[in-house]
Amino acid sequence: MPATAWELATVAVDWPSDGVVVLTFAVPNRRSNVLTEQVLTDLSLALDALGRGPAPRGLIVRSGRTGSFFAGADMDRLERLGSLTASEVEAMCAAGKRLFARLSAAWPTVAVIDGSCLGGGLELALACDLRVATAEPHTQLGLPEVKLGLLPGWGGTVRLPRLIGPGPAVEFAAGGEPVDGLTAARMGLVDACVPAAVALETARRLLDIHRATDLIAARRARLSEPVVFDPIEKDFLSATATAVMLGRTGGRYPAPLAILETILASAEVDSAEAERIESRAFAALAASPVAASLVRVFRLGERNRRDPGIGSGTESAPPRELTAAAVVGAGIMGAGIAAAHLRSGLGVGLVDIEPAALARSVPGILDEAAWNRSTKRSDPEAALALAGRLQTATRLAALAGADLVIESVLERTDMKQQVLAEIERAVGPETIIATNTSTNPIAKLAEPLIDPTRFCGMHFFNPVRRMTLVEVIRGPATSDATVAAVVAHAKRLGKCPVVVRDSPGFLVNRVLMPYLHEAVEMVREGVAPERIDRVSRRFGMPMGPIELYDMIGLDTAFYAGLVLSVAYGDRIAASPVIPALVKAKRLGRKTGGGFYDYSGIGPRARIIDTGPGAATVLARYPLPAREATDRTIADRLFLPMLLEALRVLDEGIVRDGRDIDLAVIHALGFPPFRGGLLAWADSVSAAEIVRRLEPLADLGLRMQPTERLLDLARSGRSLTN
Ligand code: NAD
Repeated sequence: MPATAWELATVAVDWPSDGVVVLTFAVPNRRSNVLTEQVLTDLSLALDALGRGPAPRGLIVRSGRTGSFFAGADMDRLERLGSLTASEVEAMCAAGKRLFARLSAAWPTVAVIDGSCLGGGLELALACDLRVATAEPHTQLGLPEVKLGLLPGWGGTVRLPRLIGPGPAVEFAAGGEPVDGLTAARMGLVDACVPAAVALETARRLLDIHRATDLIAARRARLSEPVVFDPIEKDFLSATATAVMLGRTGGRYPAPLAILETILASAEVDSAEAERIESRAFAALAASPVAASLVRVFRLGERNRRDPGIGSGTESAPPRELTAAAVVGAGIMGAGIAAAHLRSGLGVGLVDIEPAALARSVPGILDEAAWNRSTKRSDPEAALALAGRLQTATRLAALAGADLVIESVLERTDMKQQVLAEIERAVGPETIIATNTSTNPIAKLAEPLIDPTRFCGMHFFNPVRRMTLVEVIRGPATSDATVAAVVAHAKRLGKCPVVVRDSPGFLVNRVLMPYLHEAVEMVREGVAPERIDRVSRRFGMPMGPIELYDMIGLDTAFYAGLVLSVAYGDRIAASPVIPALVKAKRLGRKTGGGFYDYSGIGPRARIIDTGPGAATVLARYPLPAREATDRTIADRLFLPMLLEALRVLDEGIVRDGRDIDLAVIHALGFPPFRGGLLAWADSVSAAEIVRRLEPLADLGLRMQPTERLLDLARSGRSLTN
């Protein structure tokens, strides 16, 4: 056969004289390859064309895009799933499976996997007879569908257990975490892991070797038959995996269990029946509101990653890259921010006037930066290597070479103003100065600065390693260039930056405070704190409001509450309980007691129920009891939060409601399965929310619907569009 080559929209077909055809996919106008409709059509057309001529000796599927084999399905398609009927979704799954099945029907096939190979991309690779992964760090293989509330719908749950065993298949698909090439080879997910330079050659060799053996035929047979599955092993897997999943998800996320059930059920039947089971299970999940919420949250994250933070039309000028960052203040927050830099591969300077504060913080910073998520411990060698990138100093003169300085000293306006003015004197004229203030207006802190255009807020959340939100606060004088550079820098730290306008409480603390405040009001009415926390957790919050108070610290909460009550006193009044607890030295976890009593001091201490608690303090501030069902408790917690979020929107503090949803998820752990605060309200409906507010109206302005809400209730329009 003479050499020949042709191209379709997304794939180049190369048929050299050795007879091994290479399909190289590169989806135009995309940063990474994704399985678009066009890719599926082109794959089908290419296989049709190859089927018409003399049989190729083999077929290699690879990507022409560095860093991505196929990064998964086309999200536009996934987003449309909710509008399809179950039988349409099942038909879509079946069509994909039929197409992929053609990859192991005729000639031997190999996938060469370099870069991300996720979701449908991995299912395509699994449909080939053999797989070669590269050992490059960018090569990642995974089935992340579970994170979108879905399961692999193109044969993943059918082929995976037959290839690597049902137990590992459940763990891999229900966990959703990707693995590198070497791990994939150890798991039996790929047949070889080699340097990228020799991957194609290795694929050819594997084809040559296995044409001479019966491996391919044997593997095809094994993949089409039921899995040999010991009944005891099956029961054990079912029981343990169910318990682990329920523990992890609290029963809120149906996809992991659906994956387990699908794999268990499909392992017992032949592959044709298993495929039908998979399609049915996929369609059921696709129709669930959880999947719709998770897909939406994923899209919000994507939008955020592309968003320069300064509105459209200005994207053309790339943001300045800030490479020499420094943090002033080595307290809890400063240390966390410094560690985030080291974790992201950036060097960082750390300045504190107290040598003891530096000495205290450095080991923790290195430990955190060198934390290995898979071994769940800090890697001492990595810590040693990172130590060279952390420069500490006790004088601000050390900031001279920095192009970004993040101030994180005590939350006192006068002190912050003084430190910021000193920072400005120590740095060059181009250096961007940011403050990690949680309550001070940026305009106020900017007063002593000569050039406030290069100044903004960069509000991290505690603990920095877990909370991914960063509020980038625009002061009245902050320039676009400053905002764009800080937004880009926050992304480099792996954070999700949301730009907010300067105003008391910014975004997150402002919507959090009514929720916290209402919880204390209910305690004063006689509702048990544990019950309020339980209702909040059941709603999906990672911890209840009373526990959160104790975690934040009552002194800190008091100060933040004061700032907010001055600004929004008509609806967020400062509770007398909080200063009374502070006066009683019950500051929360840090003193071993706040609303609750603890077994010790710090975040790991357990709540104990033998202590006096805050009862004696609370007894001084009773309120008349009200109806308190779990439903009214939840309404009282989340409805004032929603109303404040709507006021934030009205005042243009954020660009749109999607930023609010992203912010509450990334800063407060608002449950992603609800899609965010506004998306949750949408699921209840504006009209129903207005109705639920009616019996609470006597509580005052904080429970009164805003004009926007009434409008939406009348028109039936959505809160999120
Ligand atoms: P902290 O008390 O733990 O640490 C403050 C550090 O600043 C201390 O080590 C102190 O020695 C140092 N410092 C004081 N004056 C200084 C100066 N002139 N020059 C250099 N260093 C100086 O405080 P923290 O909890 O880390 O808070 C820091 C900032 O972060 C505050 O503005 C706070 O509002 C904000 N913040 C805190 C949280 C939180 O939960 N702790 C969350 C978000 C933002």
